[in-house]
Amino acid sequence: MPETENTLTCAFHPNRETTLRCNRCNRPICIKCATHTPTGYRCPECIRSQQKVFITTKWYDQVIAALITGAVAFAGSLLTGLVGFYTIFIALGAGYLAVLATKKAISNRRSPLLKIVMSTSALLASIFPAFIYYYRVYWLSGIGLAWGWYDMAWRLAYGVIVTANVYYQLRK
Ligand SMILES: [Zn+2]
Ligand SMILES: [Zn+2]
Repeated sequence: MPETENTLTCAFHPNRETTLRCNRCNRPICIKCATHTPTGYRCPECIRSQQKVFITTKWYDQVIAALITGAVAFAGSLLTGLVGFYTIFIALGAGYLAVLATKKAISNRRSPLLKIVMSTSALLASIFPAFIYYYRVYWLSGIGLAWGWYDMAWRLAYGVIVTANVYYQLRK
């Protein structure tokens, strides 16, 4: 720019003046191109390359992740119920183990979708057995339904805690 050194023009729109710079590559960018991130403004190219780094999973990783997370969540659900309060510890342990085992199996690859896949799998694998168990043990046999709901409440709590735990571990 001829007049002053301080006048910048957007790297993507040569006719737009701006005072912003991308805080990663330092390119001048106009307000339309800038994306506000927790660490500052980023240009479209830096945002794109950043997203590429985050998505490293192969398609089959999602399947493996769903199976392993589901299997661990399901195994944990078999231990819950009448153990009452200890359900919380089983849920925390199962959630931790599910994420650990899955990450190992897919070599730590990651993507935003993986978080959804694993959380959904944990939820289904832990809540579904609770209903089947309730139906078979309390509903069909006619054992006191009130007692059944105490058992059921812990089983549902297990599902919620294990799912939240998996989600929390993958939040980044
Ligand atoms: Zn940039
Ligand atoms: Zn621009």
